[in-house]
Amino acid sequence: MNQAATPNAPGPLLQFENVSRKFADVIAVGPTDCAIAAGSLVALVGASGSGKSTLLKMINRLGDPDGGRVLFEGADVRDAPPAALRRRMGYVFQGVGLFPHMTVAENIAIGPRLVGEKASAARIAELLALVELEPVYAQRMPHELSGGQRQRIGVARALAGNPHLLLMDEPFGALDPVTRDGLGKRVRALHDQLGLTTIIVTHDMTEALLLADRVLVMDGGQIVADETPQSLLVGAGGEIAQALVAVPREQARALAQLGAAE
Ligand code: ADP
Ligand code: MG
Repeated sequence: MNQAATPNAPGPLLQFENVSRKFADVIAVGPTDCAIAAGSLVALVGASGSGKSTLLKMINRLGDPDGGRVLFEGADVRDAPPAALRRRMGYVFQGVGLFPHMTVAENIAIGPRLVGEKASAARIAELLALVELEPVYAQRMPHELSGGQRQRIGVARALAGNPHLLLMDEPFGALDPVTRDGLGKRVRALHDQLGLTTIIVTHDMTEALLLADRVLVMDGGQIVADETPQSLLVGAGGEIAQALVAVPREQARALAQLGAAE
């Protein structure tokens, strides 16, 4: 739809304006502009080192840009104290990062605690239910959980502050394929149910195509493609995007052939 024709349409939830970030002489993210609409589930895909994590961390101020700015709900993210900002943004990071000496309940409640709030037992149970875990898990220690359960706790923790935005950096990277698939679907369902805006960093194009509404492909610190899964599947997005799409397409073809050969 033409935006100019709908003057009352809400602005984007998140906006990158000419943001860039260097580490010594490495340009991790080149000057980048991008707007993310409220309610969308965006996958950020690209090879290792293409700048995905650097771009994501500029949103919740784990790393500020050298140039440009990031706007969240219309305001520069640097205008708010980091703890207050992060309260409105859930973050699930690579490798989960649960505190090993804290119970599941204490891990989930860490965000609210940082802003001086206490999460009740009922609230912990509610958050556990969102990630399909029984209330009894509240008193377990992280080492008593499977990898998939730990990552569910990571998601519950990210949702504890009722965020509008959920940021996930390769959240399912270390999981077996079945657990990974189940958790991906759960996150998509939570995104829809809670009305979130979600950005998932992944190097797995299959995951991106199956879960996201919009796929951003990064290469060398630039967003080189910005497409829906549907248009990627019919050949849009350019060479780098299509090289990534070719992997699941080839696998699907090989499996279909195998099935047909009986
Ligand atoms: P991705 O998440 O896509 O794998 P990153 O955003 O982590 O990529 O990294 C982009 C580039 O920036 C890489 O060349 C990486 O080595 C470099 N980089 C990222 N973080 C740092 C850092 N803290 N110090 C130095 N270089 C970094
Ligand atoms: Mg990364």
